[in-house]
Amino acid sequence: MKLASKYGEVVQESLNALLEDESFLPNFKEEERKKAFTSLESILSTPNQIQKSFLRVPLENGKVLRIPAFRVQHNNAVGPYKGGIRFHETVREDEVINLATLMTLKNTLHDVPFGGGKGGVVINPREFTEKELHTISKKYVHNFSDILGPDKDIPAPDVGTGEREMDWMMGEYKSIHPGRPYRGSFTGKSQVNGGSLGRREATGKGVYYTLRYMLHNFVNENEEWFKKNENRFAKTALNHTNRQLTVGIQGFGNVGSVAALESYTCNYLDTKVVAVSDRNVTLYNEEGLDIKALIEFTSQHEGDLPTTDEALSQSNIKAEIQDREDVLYLDTDVLILAALEEQIREDNVDKVKARMIVEGANGPVTLEADRKLSDDGVLIIPDILANAGGVIVSYFEWLQGRETQFYSEEEVFTMLFKKMKETMDNIYPQFFSDPFPLRQNCYIHSVMKLSNILYRHGKLY
Ligand code: GLU
Repeated sequence: MKLASKYGEVVQESLNALLEDESFLPNFKEEERKKAFTSLESILSTPNQIQKSFLRVPLENGKVLRIPAFRVQHNNAVGPYKGGIRFHETVREDEVINLATLMTLKNTLHDVPFGGGKGGVVINPREFTEKELHTISKKYVHNFSDILGPDKDIPAPDVGTGEREMDWMMGEYKSIHPGRPYRGSFTGKSQVNGGSLGRREATGKGVYYTLRYMLHNFVNENEEWFKKNENRFAKTALNHTNRQLTVGIQGFGNVGSVAALESYTCNYLDTKVVAVSDRNVTLYNEEGLDIKALIEFTSQHEGDLPTTDEALSQSNIKAEIQDREDVLYLDTDVLILAALEEQIREDNVDKVKARMIVEGANGPVTLEADRKLSDDGVLIIPDILANAGGVIVSYFEWLQGRETQFYSEEEVFTMLFKKMKETMDNIYPQFFSDPFPLRQNCYIHSVMKLSNILYRHGKLY
């Protein structure tokens, strides 16, 4: 069987590598082994459920829309389905399936006891009033109410959604299911509504942490490897203690702005953020941008970065205004991709000069581009590893909802970093001994764990 999803090819390669490894599922021999692997392929390549519904939304101008919406439940062998709901005009069914598949593998990789799911609504949220977005959020829960719930499927924010939408959605869930537990039905809620401290910052903090941990902890321990591998990443990594590392960040939303601030205030690495971008512009300053001032600016301008010299000088920010895509092609040591998917593709990969790429968004580098960059010696810290901070703190939020007991922000970040460190300690050393790129290593780990669980559930016969 051919795996259909975008992640299918990497999953397939992981299965092929595991098939060769006789220590994996040793009870299965020859024909039985082939059969077990065929079962695995079919389980991983198809979601358990795809639900599509049209949300009927009366607009304030009197018109009525029927808006397509999806919830995909990929796999729940490890626990209830879990994954965000995105509001974006480019949402498509196959993309939601891909993202749900990634959630299954992400949760398994980090030992988060959830399966994988994802939702999407085909709208540009900027074109709707607050009241209309409220209706859309409520209708989403209404139409999918049978399949959602704290022990079934737990959505969270994703592109175009945040605390506000999760609060509305949980409110609707509570009205539909009176008397039933509801706090764990959605994560990423506001704190007054049972949200976890630190959830908003979790993804961005985790993204930066994966980079910091690689450079600060692994580079020194693996000097021999670096000396042997005179590639793009190795050159940057080896001398990073002698100079400031330059960082470019695509996207200045929840993930990008937090990763930028982490870099700006980092005590472990000497970094400067020389470029940030959003849907309108790239801002560049080779001396390093004033990230605190930029965050202050965006908080007063609906999340947008300054787009004119006048706006920059009024806020006392020194930067050069460039095209929004320019951030991708700057000569920086590190490029953090925290916007949307498919930003680096076969057609633009040759223009990328960065030596390390960190995927804050889901799927910002296509597989073809990933291969090309890895062959050129660029280190890519993949989405499945780098951006798991969000779902990890979602798990803490879900736990806190069950226990009705709350952790301090410090406790949340300590637990988050501990969990991510455990995963990285499993993955990073292998990067220095295996021929596989990090993404492949992560997939092999995740597929292996999931397969063992499926085997013990008796699903491979
Ligand atoms: N949307 C985020 C992701 O793609 C978080 C999901 C969650 O917290 O459940 O990982």
